[in-house]
Amino acid sequence: MSLQISRERLFESLRHEILDKRVLSAMERIPRELFVPPESYNLAYEDIPLSIGYGQTISQPFIVALMTQALELQGNEKVLEIGTGSGYQTAILAELSRWVVSVERIPELADSAKRLLDRLGYRNVEIHLARETLGWPEGAPYDAIIVTAGAPRVPDVLLEQLSTKGKMVIPVGSRWEQELIKVTKKEKRVVIENLGGCRFVPLISKDAWED
Ligand code: SAH
Repeated sequence: MSLQISRERLFESLRHEILDKRVLSAMERIPRELFVPPESYNLAYEDIPLSIGYGQTISQPFIVALMTQALELQGNEKVLEIGTGSGYQTAILAELSRWVVSVERIPELADSAKRLLDRLGYRNVEIHLARETLGWPEGAPYDAIIVTAGAPRVPDVLLEQLSTKGKMVIPVGSRWEQELIKVTKKEKRVVIENLGGCRFVPLISKDAWED
């Protein structure tokens, strides 16, 4: 099947599940085939995760759309992403917000994502190599935080980097299976919603899983 046809089929099915049109049109503007390895080119618009090397994956488009929608971005936010990976989710965030800070643990992935996003003309993105502390505290507070790797619990150090009315989405559970959790800060309160099951690679950190 041609890329064009699988692409139309993917967005047709996403339209039934994702109600935020801004999220879908941002995704439609981004060539996902450039974010997957050449051998997976033909699979770029299948609704499945794909290997991007180093034991990591680019997430399934439906999950990417669901997580992005949950952040309710209006365009003026400063967003933190943990787990740049291919940079695909980063590009979507860059389309929908004012500034994106993205942190990645694997230097090769951080470099290739940086080069690709630069080539595609994104100027509102900064990519950093992960350090011992999760996230990127010097850029805090963030209006939205998206974690694209699974954690055993919602890390306090990320809640601290979220603004007083900020929203965070993060997969929480075991190393192999998680629930997608949406955390909304309301001044001193924290509201938790469960958006359903998912499978992410583990978040590796002293505040999450061991390497
Ligand atoms: N959003 C990415 C998903 C990549 S998979 C995409 O669309 O392609 C998750 C990524 O999280 C991996 O690249 C992994 O190296 C990274 N990661 C794991 N632990 C991390 C940490 N503590 N800080 C930053 N990145 C981390």
